[in-house]
Amino acid sequence: MAVDKLGALTNALDPAAILVADDDMAPYLADWRGRYVGRAQAVLRPRSVEQVSAVLRWASETRTPVFPQGGNTGLAGGATPDEGGTGIVLALGRLNRILDIDTAGNTMVVEAGAILADVQRAADDAERLFPMSLGSEGSCQIGGIIATNAGGINVIRYGTTRELVLGLDYVLADGTIVHGLKRLSKNNTGYDLRHLLIGSEGTLAVITAAALKLFPRPTASASAFCAVSSPQKAVDLLSLLRQRLVGRISSFELMCDGEMGFVLDGDVGGDLRLPVAERAPWYVFIEVADSGEEAVLVEMLTAALGEAIERGYVLDAAIAQSEGQAKAIWHLRFAVSEANRRAGPNVSHDTSVATADVPAFLAEVSTTLADRFPSVRPLFVGHVGDGNIHVIALFPHDSFADRAAFETAASAVNDCIFGVVDRFHGSISAEHGIGRSLARRLPDHTDKAAYRLMNGIKQLYDPLGILNPGKVLLRG
Ligand code: FAD
Repeated sequence: MAVDKLGALTNALDPAAILVADDDMAPYLADWRGRYVGRAQAVLRPRSVEQVSAVLRWASETRTPVFPQGGNTGLAGGATPDEGGTGIVLALGRLNRILDIDTAGNTMVVEAGAILADVQRAADDAERLFPMSLGSEGSCQIGGIIATNAGGINVIRYGTTRELVLGLDYVLADGTIVHGLKRLSKNNTGYDLRHLLIGSEGTLAVITAAALKLFPRPTASASAFCAVSSPQKAVDLLSLLRQRLVGRISSFELMCDGEMGFVLDGDVGGDLRLPVAERAPWYVFIEVADSGEEAVLVEMLTAALGEAIERGYVLDAAIAQSEGQAKAIWHLRFAVSEANRRAGPNVSHDTSVATADVPAFLAEVSTTLADRFPSVRPLFVGHVGDGNIHVIALFPHDSFADRAAFETAASAVNDCIFGVVDRFHGSISAEHGIGRSLARRLPDHTDKAAYRLMNGIKQLYDPLGILNPGKVLLRG
C-alpha cells in the first residue's frame, strides 16, 4: 500500500506504527502453524487507545477490513488476514503497559498487547498470581487470550480466561471507545457486555485494556508425573486426588505414549527425558499448589499417589524433588505443539466432552479413525480435568501432493471426529476458538436459534462487517 492511501490517518499514527514493506509485514501475514497466509495493505501498530480509535474510524469510513492481531499464536487462523489484500492488520503489541496492580483488591489493569508471561511476572513481583498459563505464554497477549477465551493448564483450579476478567476497555468498529475497566466482583447493572467480547475473536470490537483478577501466590507447589495404563485410570486418579487434595490441584494433564514418543524424539530443544523408568500407554502430569509448607504438600501428594498405586490407578510415579525437575516434567508437556509441527502432516482438534466421558470418547475416536483412515496415527494430549482433549490425526510424511489434497483429507477427518463429538454432546472447539478454520463448521454444531442470535449481535456491533471478516461467522 502506498502510505498516502492512509490519508489523514498518518497524522494520527507515529511512523513506527505503519508497516507496508513486504519483509516487515511478513510475520503478521501467516498463522503460527503456517496453515494460512494472507495479504494486507498495511500492518498498523497503534500504541494508544486513541490511535486504535483513529484506525477504526478510518477503516469504517473507507470500508477497509481490519484484522486484529495479538501475539499471533492462535491455532484457529483467527488473526491472519484474508488473501484479498484489501485489509489491514491491526497489531496490538505496542499497547503493552502494565497500568496498575492493586494488592488489596487482588486486581491488575493491563493494556491488551501485554505479553502473558510479562503479566504473570508483574503479578509475581507483587507477590500475587495471575494463573493463566499455556505453552505460548511467552508470545501470546492479554487481548489475544481474552478474545479467544483461552484455557491452558490451570483451568481445573482457576477457570478459563472468562473467569479472570473483571472489566474491559474496547473500541467499536466505528471508532467509539467503550470504557469498562471496572474492577468490581459484583456489578448487576444491565447486560454484562464484557462477556460478549470474551471469546469474540476480534469480530465485535478491538480490546485495548483489561482489569484482571489476581490470586494469592501459593507458597508451596509440587509436580508429579505418572504412568497409567488407560484414560479410565487417569480419570480414576483425578477423582481420588480431588478427594485427597481438596482444592489444591492446579493442573492435571493427559498424554498418550505415541505423543510422548514424538516429544522425546522430536528434537524440540531442552533436556527431554522420561521421568519414570519405563514407557507406558498413557501419562499424567500433575501440579498441586497450596499456601502452607512445601514439605507438607509433597507429603500429601506422595500419600495420595501411593494410594493410587495400591488401587491400581497408577503404574509408576515420579514426584519432582526440585524446581528444575518440575520444569523438566512440564517441558515435556509444553513441547507438544512444536513436536507435532515437526512430526508430519496432522489435523489437530480441540474437542471437549464431560470428563467422565473422556475414556469412552477416546476409544470411539480411535476406532472410528482406524476404520476410516488406516494410515492415520491418532495422538491424544490435553486437559483431561476439563474434558478437553486435543485429538491429533497424524498422517505419514509425503501423504499429500499439495496443500489442497491435505485440506480435503483434513475435512474428512474433521467430519469423522466431529461426528463422535456430537454423539457425546461435546464441543468442537473447547479453547482455541472458531477463527477461520471452523467458521464453516459452526452452523452444523450450534443450535440454529443461537447461531441466528450470534449473527444479530455481529450486525449490531459491526454493521459494515469490517472487523475480522470470515472469522467465526460466515457472513462479512
Ligand atoms: P492471536 O493469535 O494474535 O489472535 C487470536 C484471536 O484473537 C484472533 O481472532 C484475533 O483477531 C483476536 N485478537 C487478538 N488480540 C485482540 C484484541 N486486542 N482485540 C480483539 N481481538 C483480538 N490456547 C489455549 O487456550 N490453551 C492452550 O493450552 C494453548 N496452548 C498453546 C500452545 C502453543 C505452543 C501455541 C502456539 C498456542 C497455544 N494456544 C493455546 C493457542 C493460543 O496461544 C491462544 O489462542 C492465545 O489465546 C492467542 O493469543 P494471541 O495473543 O497470540 O492471539
